[in-house]
Amino acid sequence: MDYACEVLYGIDFSVSPMLETIAAGFPATWELVSDLGALSSTPDAQTFLEEDGFLREATAFYGTLCPDYQPLLESLIESDALQLETVPQLLAGGATKVTNGRLHVTIRSYDDLSLAVGAMHEFGHALYASCSNASDTVRYPIYETHAIGGSLLCLDAMEAFFRERAGGDEHGAYLTLRYLLQPLDNLYHGLIRSRLSAEIFTSPDSFSPRDIARRYLELSLTLVDDTGYSPDYQMLLGARWMNSSSLFQNPFSDISCVLAAVNAVSLWRDQQAGGDAVTRYNALVQTPIPDIPYADYCLRMGLPDLTDPASCEGLDDFLAGRLTALTGELSGEE
Ligand SMILES: [Zn+2]
Repeated sequence: MDYACEVLYGIDFSVSPMLETIAAGFPATWELVSDLGALSSTPDAQTFLEEDGFLREATAFYGTLCPDYQPLLESLIESDALQLETVPQLLAGGATKVTNGRLHVTIRSYDDLSLAVGAMHEFGHALYASCSNASDTVRYPIYETHAIGGSLLCLDAMEAFFRERAGGDEHGAYLTLRYLLQPLDNLYHGLIRSRLSAEIFTSPDSFSPRDIARRYLELSLTLVDDTGYSPDYQMLLGARWMNSSSLFQNPFSDISCVLAAVNAVSLWRDQQAGGDAVTRYNALVQTPIPDIPYADYCLRMGLPDLTDPASCEGLDDFLAGRLTALTGELSGEE
């Protein structure tokens, strides 16, 4: 597995201890996210934005990170390189590809919020494609950091937009929380899927579909005290592996997403603490990913060193704090 992760994603250190570092590093966040399970899976076809108008504003959110980004993204949304599709909820997502030197961005959404989430994510990928002129093979944890990191670094602008546009603070807080669940999903379910794929791919013969569902549930229950899960939610968790296309079609990509999510949260925390995270994010987006060991590049860019068990320190408190503030607002607490 370590070999596959190195060849596919440039992850040049042992994966299993790194997954354990992350699992042990976010206890408060796991507790809160497991409570939000129902919220993350409830479909809601809310209408609060106008498609073109929103995409234009999204380019301005990225423009707050670097003035060059806004015109770049504006030319993307005016071109036929951007394709918007309305799809059933399970198929929502997106893709950014460069084929024969031409950029193609697809955003598949089922409601306004999923359009917002998808656009902010894919715009992060599109910026790297446009700014870096990279022609080398993609190195996934950094590549996904462009997208997840961009979504989080623009969260303040997004939140202001939700609160202003969605008619009131309570709904704005709700939309912000739902927006935040997407990067968190990369961290939480990404970690569960990573641990599961580590087990399956080291011992494929011992897993039937029923085993996989059972292990998915067991692994999610090891992250938190299970008393809060309703039987329905347990069913849902057990079934979640089925809508994970990554588990079988794209082995180990979850591992790269988890790493990217930790990178992104660390950038976000540093930005909120007044650090130079935006400068570092811009360097990540504007320079081709160098062909050096992943851990070395993280060190160079000030991203967490996950070979160090203390590397998640402070990130859990920060994330849990933001989640608690938003959920508190929803339940009417101060
Ligand atoms: Zn992505």
